[in-house]
Amino acid sequence: WSCGEAQGKPLAEVFHIIDGATREHSPNPMELAIQTGKTVELAANCILIRRDGSESSIEDSAAPIHDRSGAITGAVIVFHDVSMSKTITEEMARLAQHDGLTDLPNRMLLTDRINQAIATARRNGTRVAVMYLDLDGFKHINDSLGHDVGDKLLQSVAKCLVCCVRSSDTVSRQGGDEFVVLLSEISHATDASITARKILTALTSSHACNEANQHITLSIGLSTYPEDGEDAETLIKNADTAMYQAKEEGRNNYRFYKKDMNLQTIERQSVEADLRLALDRQEFVLHYQPKISLETGEITGVEALIRWAHPDRGRVPPAEFIPIAEDCGLILPIGRWVLREACRQAKDWMDAGLHVAPVSVNVSSLEFRNGDFIEGLRAILRETGLDPSYLELELTETVLMHHAESTSPVLRELKSIGVLLSVDDFGTGNSSLSYLKRFPIDSLKIDQSFMHDITANTDDATIVSAVITMAKSLKKCVIAKGVETVDQLTFLLAHGCDEGQGYYFNRPMVAQEFAKLLETDISATVWN
Ligand code: C2E
Ligand code: MG
Repeated sequence: WSCGEAQGKPLAEVFHIIDGATREHSPNPMELAIQTGKTVELAANCILIRRDGSESSIEDSAAPIHDRSGAITGAVIVFHDVSMSKTITEEMARLAQHDGLTDLPNRMLLTDRINQAIATARRNGTRVAVMYLDLDGFKHINDSLGHDVGDKLLQSVAKCLVCCVRSSDTVSRQGGDEFVVLLSEISHATDASITARKILTALTSSHACNEANQHITLSIGLSTYPEDGEDAETLIKNADTAMYQAKEEGRNNYRFYKKDMNLQTIERQSVEADLRLALDRQEFVLHYQPKISLETGEITGVEALIRWAHPDRGRVPPAEFIPIAEDCGLILPIGRWVLREACRQAKDWMDAGLHVAPVSVNVSSLEFRNGDFIEGLRAILRETGLDPSYLELELTETVLMHHAESTSPVLRELKSIGVLLSVDDFGTGNSSLSYLKRFPIDSLKIDQSFMHDITANTDDATIVSAVITMAKSLKKCVIAKGVETVDQLTFLLAHGCDEGQGYYFNRPMVAQEFAKLLETDISATVWN
């Protein structure tokens, strides 16, 4: 309003203010100041409607004007536009409650909503379900395809999750690849399992994150109010525990929380905590198991197998701690230690004048996909002075065939360094024969699960003999693992298998014992 236009108009028309929350017309503070004779503060969320209808948040106060005798003759209002600072404050409040990458509510807002949902459910006698979701193998995607692809995948997952639930439910991101969904009003636990199944199906479809669409699976843990907890924190914690159980049981599925799961989680967390200390405390040691030429009985190689001597638990087998180390990323420093120690030991044996065969080291998927792996390997070879042709890397079939396209260049680079490569656990994954032919692999190790019934079960026998024939035609060395009996050995010899490894020949042993074995005439001891 210009001064001239405003003059003579009713105050309410020129100075039109409303309550920002209710959108209702507010009493004019100047009139209030005149009526009460006191200073009147503008309400906190006061909005001024301008002549053109636009709105501004305003702040400040109105005060009465007195003449010399003290009589009230009018009022004055002083105000300023706070729209900008209000927008900033609101944005900051929003940011504090949302996740920057996906714009989903964060843990703080989620906790608030769960507690509200619990209060409502308590009144209405209904239930609340909390779902903890974790993407399977997300670390591998991030490590192998980069953080940009990882971020896009998380955004795509976030959108997909929002589509799977009702608008009254809350999808939140906890950080990393973990999401929590609140199903605020369910009458039965089965309602939650229907949503879990819907999410599992919806999310396994592909996500457009780069040229090649990404396929993922996820594991879900569920907890419900009132059964599994009376507050947000407990429900989230128990859903997380159930999620771990879903992962343990093979991933890409969901599990409801059960009380005895807690013990398992505590156990797992304590193993993880101890693993973090184990390297510093020098609790790891390598044992060595020979590979034997079936034709001559000579030692053709030796596999380094890690052992963990825990101060309280005693000897923890690798099957119990390697998967945990892989999950929490500790496999990277542990794997590097194994590689260095195996190379150092092999070089020591050589320097001692022993007739050493190549030492093989098991390499986990996370190590193989890690960008620093090759550099680390080169550094270790330099540092220990081991000739690369005396080192073999064992990679499982699943590791090689997963993202087979990106595997090829890594294998070629490893080959150019001069190390040997073998496929471990052969027969358990889904090998593509064309890749197998193209990959610069030296040998195939037949998984020991086929060995048990090789002499009785015709299926296993057929598979083993087929693998041997195939390996020969691909000109790769073939090794049978887990050879325990003379019957198995006879079968393998009859089918032309090159090498064997197993308790029939030797159990894994400490380094000194293996050195002694190298000193004796092994071909005589085994074959006589
Ligand atoms: P793997 O690579 O398949 O190793 C062979 C496993 O079979 C070893 O178990 C070995 O002790 C066992 N074994 C050897 N001969 C026989 C036999 O005749 N009968 C039977 N029943 N078993 C036999 P171990 O040492 O418990 O290792 C288990 C797995 O842990 C290994 O399987 C490997 O996948 C992993 N692992 C061991 N050391 C390392 C390591 O340094 N790094 C990584 N990433 N994984 C490792
Ligand atoms: Mg192995």
